[in-house]
Amino acid sequence: MTQRPPGFPSWIASSASPSSAKPGSKPSAKPGAGQATRAPAAMPMPMGVGLDSIAVRSRMVQRLAQGGVNSQQVLQAMSSVERHHFVDSALVNQAYEDTSLPIGLGQTISKPSVVARMTALLLGAECARGGLGRVLEIGTGCGYQAAVLGRVAQEVYSIERLRGLHEKARTNLRPLRLAHVHLLFGDGMLGYAQGAPYAGILAAAGGDAIPDAWCEQLAVGGRLVAPMGNGAGGQSLLVIDKTPYGLKRTVLEAVNFVPLKSGIA
Ligand code: SAH
Repeated sequence: MTQRPPGFPSWIASSASPSSAKPGSKPSAKPGAGQATRAPAAMPMPMGVGLDSIAVRSRMVQRLAQGGVNSQQVLQAMSSVERHHFVDSALVNQAYEDTSLPIGLGQTISKPSVVARMTALLLGAECARGGLGRVLEIGTGCGYQAAVLGRVAQEVYSIERLRGLHEKARTNLRPLRLAHVHLLFGDGMLGYAQGAPYAGILAAAGGDAIPDAWCEQLAVGGRLVAPMGNGAGGQSLLVIDKTPYGLKRTVLEAVNFVPLKSGIA
């Protein structure tokens, strides 16, 4: 089998405008005139991986469904985003295994089951009935979770404190042409007030406490999903619902995320 199947148009060289923005700036609505076309140089794939990608991805989605993910919206999003384009070429063969993988600078892309779980939790927010509005992600990393959120939310702001990863995510997301996914470089512990209030806030890095700014920037009816230190050296997934009467906290299963750090680097 040497035929290339359909389903990979997003990586054909295009003149799309970048799907990212600096804090405070709005994404341009029209493609930038004369913008250099980025050939997909950063995504070489070993022979065979691209050919099998659709089948391998649908097996991943099947496993997610068997593992308890029952949101069709999430399963659809996970089947449409090509995770193998977000990892280094040497790791492409593991892209659809349920494992976290290194993305450089000591950080990792979360495993698919965790991405699906957190996305499903966000979609369960009171104000997500009928679809998620504006969402903030803390910890863009390689941009994979941001792309998945882009499939289920009207607008996504994703902030990363490491410039190298912010740039990597821009490169990874550019061919997807997601004009409603805004990548920001900055300290996500401060949230991103310009985009608030958010229907959902998702953190991909865990600290010992939830920064006040996140709860302040959450809409009433909105939901925050984040890993948080459990005081015993581990982390648990925490859900905070902002109700008209105050914040409701629910502690869920144990998780293992990279640390939430302050400042930029
Ligand atoms: N969602 C990402 C996961 C990246 S790992 C993906 O799909 O690839 C978590 C990321 O959080 C790391 O890149 C780390 O640099 C970032 N991070 C940690 N503390 C942060 C902070 N205060 N603000 C923004 N990003 C932060």
